[in-house]
Amino acid sequence: MLIFAEKGFLKRLELTSLDFLFRLRGPSLCNPHIVIVEISDSDIAAIGRWPWRRRWHALMVKALGDLGVKSIYFDVLFSEKSSEEDDGLFSEAIKEAGNVYLPFAFSGRSTDSKNALLPLEKLSSYTKGTGSINIYPDIDGVLRRVPLFFMGEEGLDLHITLKLAMDYLGLKIKKLRLDYLSLSGPKQKMKIPLLEKNKMLVNWTGKWEETFKHYSFLDVLGAYQDFLKNQTAKIDLKPFKNSICIVAATAMGLYDIESIPLEPVYPSAGIIATAISNILDEGFMGTFPIWFNWLLIYILALAPALLISGDKPLREILLMIPAGAIFLITVFLFFKRGIWIDFSAPLVSFSGSYLIVATCNFVRVSVEKKGFFRLAVTDELTALYNIRYFKTILRAECLMARVEANKSFCIVMSDVDHFKHFNDTYGHQVGDLVLKEVAAVLKASVRSSDIVARYGGEEMIVLLRGTSLEGGLVAGKKIRENVEKHLVKDEDNNYKVTISLGVSSFNSQDNEETVIKRADQGLYKSKELGRNRVATIEKPSFL
Ligand code: GH3
Ligand code: MG
Ligand code: MG
Repeated sequence: MLIFAEKGFLKRLELTSLDFLFRLRGPSLCNPHIVIVEISDSDIAAIGRWPWRRRWHALMVKALGDLGVKSIYFDVLFSEKSSEEDDGLFSEAIKEAGNVYLPFAFSGRSTDSKNALLPLEKLSSYTKGTGSINIYPDIDGVLRRVPLFFMGEEGLDLHITLKLAMDYLGLKIKKLRLDYLSLSGPKQKMKIPLLEKNKMLVNWTGKWEETFKHYSFLDVLGAYQDFLKNQTAKIDLKPFKNSICIVAATAMGLYDIESIPLEPVYPSAGIIATAISNILDEGFMGTFPIWFNWLLIYILALAPALLISGDKPLREILLMIPAGAIFLITVFLFFKRGIWIDFSAPLVSFSGSYLIVATCNFVRVSVEKKGFFRLAVTDELTALYNIRYFKTILRAECLMARVEANKSFCIVMSDVDHFKHFNDTYGHQVGDLVLKEVAAVLKASVRSSDIVARYGGEEMIVLLRGTSLEGGLVAGKKIRENVEKHLVKDEDNNYKVTISLGVSSFNSQDNEETVIKRADQGLYKSKELGRNRVATIEKPSFL
């Protein structure tokens, strides 16, 4: 389900990006030999309700024939009989002109001509040709492609656009391939790029009002009268000469409204005219083969991994912007030359890959930074904090304690008793082992919020947060007992270690040096009193 939704999303994105390119490019030239005669609102008002008596169409066929039109196409389905007389007149005119085309329509999605809506035999037997008028919008309801032919059960049926254009240019189908249709004639050869087997991507030439010469039905008949009387006609009749003339309804409610990339309301006759114009001018909108699109997707997905390392994220983002702009400009230049590159999927892959790579880099850089930080604040031998970091924390603690009374804290200074003796008797390695284990016992004896650091040599220091002198002495006692209980072992011996401790508690006149100094004095006192004990030079309030 999700995959389908995703597919639909990508498809819509692809279509939107195509529309965007058409709008960005603006109008392009449309073939001057295509003329449209509109059955407009004013004609309906003058002649009467639709359908008109077919003698009007007979008159139009006669007029267009006399005006030198090469192919006359009625974009109207004449599949039902009208009066004998009118059908006779129309049929007669078609026969006489010899260059009239009428459409048929497949019903629904079927391409079986047996079920198609065909023109009356009386009319179709004299036409120069027929073709299907079926067009199918994309999933978002916008029309972007025209099927040029249909493989029916009874063979190949052409779309009316292809039929008209081929006859006009004197071309025949030479080769039918999945990705192109090749036409050839005595003077010319061409390859029409195809999408999805039989569809041509329409290369929009502009909005309805701005493209193709179109005249109202009655204006053309009026001008024809003037032409017969050798008078100057109200409209320029030259474009009719040697043209493909499409007679189509554009009056409100009479025509099929389609939505195209350039306009939400566009008559289907305009779509036929545009598709014919594309073929006459060979102004196709082609695409690269599908593997090229995949290659582009892969390259753009790989680019962030190769280009960004996360060391200078801001510079990398700034680099991505011109890179993206160059890509889009290239896509646009290709589009102007008639090649559509779908940039939505590559851009999605690029952005997705960029996000992933950038996130990975961010995490990696953060972890590295964390590693560096740890290295900078830790004592290598004991894995306790070093004294520099301890003093930074202590400074902040002093500031807080000065403001808030309950943030008061204790400093405990410890020193291993007769450590020199350890070193001298058992060697420095045993000395180092003792330091490591004493450090571990110290750390395990206090809360995780307390800070334990190596002061230097075999002296260690503890900051007990939110602790009074009384609490500090209790904690000191606990530390001392734990060290005494702990036996340091190596392969050869067990070593008994004791430590002496001095405790001080913060008062409002203190700074980080004075509070440490009093703890040190407490330690000195412990040593004086015989070691393996806790002492303070402060006067406990509870005594
Ligand atoms: P006291 O009970 O009075 O503290 O006696 P002490 O022997 O511990 O005296 P003192 O504090 O003067 O001795 C410190 C000794 O610790 C001196 C030095 O050789 C040793 N020491 C300092 N840093 C290290 C170290 O990183 N590793 C080892 N193995 N020994 C160290
Ligand atoms: Mg010492
Ligand atoms: Mg010592």
